Amino acid sequence: MPMRQTGGTMIAGHWEVVVVGGRIAGASTAWALAPYAERILVVDASRATTFWPQQSTWDRSGNLAWAELGLLDTVLACGAPRTYGDTYRVGDEVVEREYPCEDEHSYRMSVSREVLDPALLAAACSRENVDVLRPAQVRDIAFDAEGRAGGVTVRHAGTDHKITCDLLVLADGRLSRNAGRVGAKAYRVVESPWFALLAYYENLPLPTDRSYFSLQDRSVLISTPCGDKQWCIALDRHQSLIDESGQHPVRSYDRMVRDDPYLGPAVAGGRRTTSVGGAGRLRMLRRPMSGPGWCLVGDVGYHLDPVTAQGTRAALVTTRILRDRIAAVGRVTDVDLTGLTDERDAALETEWAYTEQIVAPEQS
Ligand SMILES: Cc1cc2nc3c(=O)[nH]c(=O)nc-3n(C[C@H](O)[C@H](O)[C@H](O)COP(=O)(O)OP(=O)(O)OC[C@H]3O[C@@H](n4cnc5c(N)ncnc54)[C@H](O)[C@@H]3O)c2cc1C
Repeated sequence: MPMRQTGGTMIAGHWEVVVVGGRIAGASTAWALAPYAERILVVDASRATTFWPQQSTWDRSGNLAWAELGLLDTVLACGAPRTYGDTYRVGDEVVEREYPCEDEHSYRMSVSREVLDPALLAAACSRENVDVLRPAQVRDIAFDAEGRAGGVTVRHAGTDHKITCDLLVLADGRLSRNAGRVGAKAYRVVESPWFALLAYYENLPLPTDRSYFSLQDRSVLISTPCGDKQWCIALDRHQSLIDESGQHPVRSYDRMVRDDPYLGPAVAGGRRTTSVGGAGRLRMLRRPMSGPGWCLVGDVGYHLDPVTAQGTRAALVTTRILRDRIAAVGRVTDVDLTGLTDERDAALETEWAYTEQIVAPEQS
């Protein structure tokens, strides 16, 4: 679907909603709020072709979250196979597991961000009133005399544009600078000792309806089919192992994959299609979800360590909470955003507790 890209001359002026960030949280939010706003502008700093080494795999609860937003068909159309079980290795023990069948949503999926994010943005743009500005960066936020966020300065093609809005949604991820600008200070932080790394492969001689997990001393190796003859192989590795080995994390990744009895022979027969990317020295954090004129969705407000693969679902839950609040009054201009933080924290308490217990067992 062609993306409606807003040209430079059309940017300035008033938009009812400005969404900063156009990936899982931002694109889903633009899609979900479109029925309640006249004009929505999505501003995203990245280029459409940027490799985004953040995996997106989820289980039944993620499928339910996509369905609640009306985006499950969009996600399924990305063409990733559904997995109904996995090969689960702990040391030398291997177990074949099947996922319990509760309903039609009882499967896992993984879609590469290079496929998923554009599909979500295209869905948002299929709403007539959503436009995308990219690559463009929100560099400043304007407040009125009462301290309410009422606009942004956007840098696009070397020029700054001033935009006003009724609602500013920050969906700019865990490294957001705009959260500080609206004064959304983290009130809960957990430092993570895990490194998350991944790369994509094609033509591996592996089943397309099963994933593979290998749990070893302070590391987890996961392979998931994520498209036609495509696989994502991810590694969560404890920082202490990286320090002990003295090896660059990317070299540890290569060695772990190569030495794995299941994945090693498979990757020897296939081809790696991306570089190895990922992140380390991460922090789980919670920031307030809303304030006067602004709201945070996705990682910027609620960041879970990737080790439990709950980030996608958490992002979708925050979007759904905002959508429901606005839907209850019918228009973004009339909405009262107070109390969203408590609602979100209650809705995601299980995911937080589960992740924190793995990331920092001594603190939880
Ligand atoms: C290595 C790794 C592996 C992961 N694996 C999983 C997994 O298996 N399952 C799972 O559920 N989750 C996983 N996650 C977490 C998941 O990727 C995130 O929860 C999810 O990407 C959050 O999406 P988001 O839209 O909030 O933020 P992001 O995907 O970070 O998107 C933020 C967007 O905002 C843009 N932006 C930033 N600043 C500005 C600005 N000033 N102006 C304009 N635009 C801006 C950025 O360019 C970017 O496009 C993983 C994360 C990592 C790092």
